[in-house]
Amino acid sequence: MGMSSDLVVMGAGPSGLAAAWRAARRGLSVTVLERADHVGGLSASFEVSGVRVDHGSHRLHPATPPHLLADLRGLLGDDLQRRSRNGRLRIADRYVGFPLKPAELAKRLPPGLLAGVARDALTAPLRGAGRGGTYAGALRASLGPALYEALYAPYALKLWGLPGEEIDGDQARRRVTADSPWKIVRRILRGRSSGQGKIFYYPRRGFGQIADALADAAAAAGADIRLGTACTRIEPAAGAVVLHTSPGPGPGRGSGPGAGGGAVSRDPAPDADPTAEARLTAGHVFSTIPMPALARLVEPGPAPEVAEAAGRLRFRAMVLVYAVHEGGRWTPFDAHYLPGPETPVTRISEPANYRTSADDPGDRTVLCFEIPCAAGDEIWATGDFSGVVHETLARSGLPPVDLAGVVVRRVPYVYPIYATGYAEHLAGLDAWAGTIPDVTTFGRLGLFAHDNTHHAMAMGYDAVDSLTETGWDGSAWRAARGRFAGHVVED
Ligand SMILES: Cc1cc2nc3c(=O)[nH]c(=O)nc-3n(C[C@H](O)[C@H](O)[C@H](O)COP(=O)(O)OP(=O)(O)OC[C@H]3O[C@@H](n4cnc5c(N)ncnc54)[C@H](O)[C@@H]3O)c2cc1C
Repeated sequence: MGMSSDLVVMGAGPSGLAAAWRAARRGLSVTVLERADHVGGLSASFEVSGVRVDHGSHRLHPATPPHLLADLRGLLGDDLQRRSRNGRLRIADRYVGFPLKPAELAKRLPPGLLAGVARDALTAPLRGAGRGGTYAGALRASLGPALYEALYAPYALKLWGLPGEEIDGDQARRRVTADSPWKIVRRILRGRSSGQGKIFYYPRRGFGQIADALADAAAAAGADIRLGTACTRIEPAAGAVVLHTSPGPGPGRGSGPGAGGGAVSRDPAPDADPTAEARLTAGHVFSTIPMPALARLVEPGPAPEVAEAAGRLRFRAMVLVYAVHEGGRWTPFDAHYLPGPETPVTRISEPANYRTSADDPGDRTVLCFEIPCAAGDEIWATGDFSGVVHETLARSGLPPVDLAGVVVRRVPYVYPIYATGYAEHLAGLDAWAGTIPDVTTFGRLGLFAHDNTHHAMAMGYDAVDSLTETGWDGSAWRAARGRFAGHVVED
């Protein structure tokens, strides 16, 4: 026996929740299936030693489209705070403040590097536009070799586990063209400054308050959000997709949605055997789970050669190490960016510095160390990270911590890796996904798109807008996909 919904959404990250909220507001019956025991996906927050923390440094960027920002303001009210950025970036063994100031840069950067950057700026017209090709080629051409070697090359190796020569040029266009600290270095060195990138928005109770609020709003509009429920099989059929589910991995350490999430249920099914498979049917399915995972769930699946190509799409994993520091705030900075090879850590953030909240304790703080890796490798398998914490701080010229505890989270799917050749592997899979009747894939993992939360939310809205009274509007969705291709990641 099963139940039926107009729309089933797989995944309760920002993309799935934005879609569920919009669809429920439009009067559709909506069921959300989330494998984890909490909403939010990569954008979720949870508590460590009484401090709300995120999955790595998360901020809502000022590039968020006004209508999305207005909706979030409506949900979060004064809890959505407007903040000034206050980060630092380590380059050539020293820190430069962020937002960057030309005078400070001229003073702080070693003369050799400054001369190299100046030389590269002068010879830029001779290097060409750097379109296509590899990440290394594109950035050497646009930024010049000096800045590329000092910042981007070591950073890419840490972040994606590949030298820039083995990364597709798309990665440079999708990320580096954004208003990131990296781009700002370049712009300021060229004598132009920017008003962008200096502020951000952040909810008082952690970035995950955004997803919690979306979940509460979706539930209030009638959506049924089922936590701890994984989709195990999808059988598209004329007019009604059949989905099989089973309980997810069980209760974890995650936090649930905020108080008042009436129809957000932690139980797989109200009165069912918790180990049993359940079955439901949907008029339409939105999938925000990794696209290769979708290919494994749908029956019949893709042709063997498409499945094989899909298997070559890789995601970077990440170990998040939360270090509890006794003795008040550690530094006044929100984040330290560490692109260099002296540590596997790419960024250290101090979540309490992203907000003003009376809930944050005065006598301790929590730091979040982001360590990209491959699932199963040496970093992934490390048991005790206290040595990494102390060594990273010492090698990066940062104040030591009075370590009162360490909490570790391992996340297998974090960054899509744009290894050279990825576009071909993805194209076959995407084309197949486009043929599954009444199933649409989107979201960061669902489209293999390195994106931001506001992009994920925009995808959810656009998907609902393509679901019309008369059925799926393929041309509206193609237009939306065209817009997504222009998304550029903000750091
Ligand atoms: C380190 C880091 C820093 C970031 N910083 C920022 C930032 O500063 N600003 C910003 O805007 N964005 C940032 N992002 C990006 C942001 O986290 C993502 O864009 C956003 O969370 C993507 O939302 P999504 O819904 O597409 O996917 P996700 O958040 O990944 O959600 C997918 C959901 O699907 C669920 N799922 C998976 N498989 C199944 C299954 N079989 N059945 C049911 N459910 C399933 C997962 O549990 C998850 O909840 C950052 C990301 C990372 C990794």
